Amino acid sequence: MTIIRVALDTPLDFCFDYRWAATAGDAAPPRIGQLALVPFGRREVVGLIVAVDVATEVPADKLKDALAIRSQLAPLSEQWRALCAFAADYYQRPLGEVALPGLPKNLRALKTTALDRALKKLAKTAAAHDATPAAAPLLNPAQQAAADAIAGAQGFAPHLLYGVTGSGKTEVYLQAAAQILTRHDDAQILILVPEINLTPQLEGNIRVRFPAVMVATLHSSLAEGERMTHWLAAHLGRARIVLGTRLAILASLPQLKLIVIDEEHDPSYKQQEGLRYSARDLAVWRAHQLEIPIVLGSATPSLESWQHAQTGRYRKLELRERAVAAAVLPAVHLIDMERNKPLDGLTPMLIAALKLRLQRGEQSLLFLNRRGYAPVIACDACGWISNCSRCTAFMVLHKPEHRLRCHHCSLELRIPRSCPTCGNVDLQPLGRGTQRVEEGLQAIFPEARITRIDADSTRRKGSAQAAFDTVHRGEVDILIGTQMVAKGHDFKNLTLVGILNPDTALFSQDYRASERLFAQLMQVAGRAGRAAQKEGGSASEVLIQTRYPQHPLYAAVVNHDYDHFATELLAERQQAHLPPYLYQALLRAEARELVTAIDFLTQAATAVEFPGVTINDPIPMTMTRVANVDRAQLLIECPSRPALQAFLKVWLAALRAIKTRAKWSLEVDPVDI
Ligand code: ADP
Ligand code: ZN
Ligand code: ZN
Repeated sequence: MTIIRVALDTPLDFCFDYRWAATAGDAAPPRIGQLALVPFGRREVVGLIVAVDVATEVPADKLKDALAIRSQLAPLSEQWRALCAFAADYYQRPLGEVALPGLPKNLRALKTTALDRALKKLAKTAAAHDATPAAAPLLNPAQQAAADAIAGAQGFAPHLLYGVTGSGKTEVYLQAAAQILTRHDDAQILILVPEINLTPQLEGNIRVRFPAVMVATLHSSLAEGERMTHWLAAHLGRARIVLGTRLAILASLPQLKLIVIDEEHDPSYKQQEGLRYSARDLAVWRAHQLEIPIVLGSATPSLESWQHAQTGRYRKLELRERAVAAAVLPAVHLIDMERNKPLDGLTPMLIAALKLRLQRGEQSLLFLNRRGYAPVIACDACGWISNCSRCTAFMVLHKPEHRLRCHHCSLELRIPRSCPTCGNVDLQPLGRGTQRVEEGLQAIFPEARITRIDADSTRRKGSAQAAFDTVHRGEVDILIGTQMVAKGHDFKNLTLVGILNPDTALFSQDYRASERLFAQLMQVAGRAGRAAQKEGGSASEVLIQTRYPQHPLYAAVVNHDYDHFATELLAERQQAHLPPYLYQALLRAEARELVTAIDFLTQAATAVEFPGVTINDPIPMTMTRVANVDRAQLLIECPSRPALQAFLKVWLAALRAIKTRAKWSLEVDPVDI
């Protein structure tokens, strides 16, 4: 009989001991890294064995028996456990809450039917078939140098692949991967992308280029059965290329030899609930732990990564030109909305440019980061506006759906026929979202084929892909969309990008807003002119409608000048003592009543004193109420990461001792403050 120590998915910050008496059929002793089925309270749950043969402090009569060990599954490696342990330690969470939720649900099921079936299925999958790989394009010298640098790197080698939109970063990843796969018979490569649904193009490319290797995808919209086989394929080393979203950073990859983070600046690498980790930061840690190369690619790197490249911590690889011969970056022009007055949100200059594209059979893209018809409706007579009854937010008018919707708590109402307070029947939509722009465009260009792509138009599974396919097939003249259309897509016949109303982000309280806006504008601008200009066709062009044409951010976009912009922003951040020159943690609290939340945070603020750590005052969050819950926050700042970490350990223990009805959570390196 042995005692095993098991990490469970509970908020309790310790592991649990169990007795294990081998049964006749299961004679092998338990091993660290195996999964075990154990009783916990009145339930039975699967946990991770973190120690074997421990000297337990639990009295013998209290010690329970473990029920089964998943011995058909190879143990999770020491390196994988170390990754989880690091994440748990750094983000101040119990180990079990990091290690277990990332495993496929079926692996944590009481019965092993699904596991056994998946293992059998994998065993039957043919190892490699000898299909001919699709020909790889000849890299240009800058691409070749980048691919060689990555594939040839020894030990831990972080690279920032800084390449303008359309410079062929993907090709660099693939050819570096090809070199590594050829060199090591069993090497595995992890490629992370911000949103898998937007990149079937990439998955398709990978499959035709590497027909002889097994490719697995890991993302949240996989069915449980698929998720299980893909995860197992990675864990068993069968999948040589794993393509996934942020959650794939916690996959078990015993032969990992290269990590690629595409569009590394993208905010979706940050998990915003539960374990609030940064997949990019964990990826760098993982590469360091395994002593392997990692490449972070972007046209607009995060300031964190840019700073590392400036100080030489990351090696900077540059692609300054577009990859397709004769494809050039689009000319960016600002349209001053004070002088060129818009009608239905569209200025005459933009309309003229759209018309020209329609005549020439070219595609245009209109970008407006606001879905719905209008962000609010109001009554002119009495001043009523469509506030959400449960949130500090407006109900958004969705005209095609005949609904008012709150984008924060999902409350839905029918559109009132008349003002709820005074009965006035003439309620006015204020402002405009993608639906309203679509309606206006259709009126101006009744012959044009117009498609809208946003979260509303793509609710059905597969509908986003279907919509993008029609664009790629040339069946769309004008595409209008939110950030969904800005990322990654390689549109070949698009020569005009119009950007509507980006100004609001210029004056946001969030110090990261301008970094984000710049990245977003460069991304969406980068959708234009990805192929060579056709004879008699238009030069590619980006038109930005703004009321602030003098703003330096727009000047940087016009000049495609990320370098300069980033240097200025970094200088500002340094002066203002903001990240990446400062480390932060955020304590959030929520409760039915704001005072309960503030009360808890006030106690938290005085619970521990620590030299070098600044504890700010508790404040209500900008959007205080969501779904009838009030929210407040407390910001912690420190110029040293280790000092902040040391403080958080002590602080967390003190927080756990505070009696409160508020629900609270701690976030390390917060991005939305
Ligand atoms: P990025 O990710 O840098 O924005 P992509 O990887 O999407 O750019 O590449 C842009 C286009 O250039 C794609 O159509 C790609 O097939 C093409 N491309 C990439 N490298 C080359 C090359 N060496 N020669 C010709 N075309 C290339
Ligand atoms: Zn009214
Ligand atoms: Zn609401």
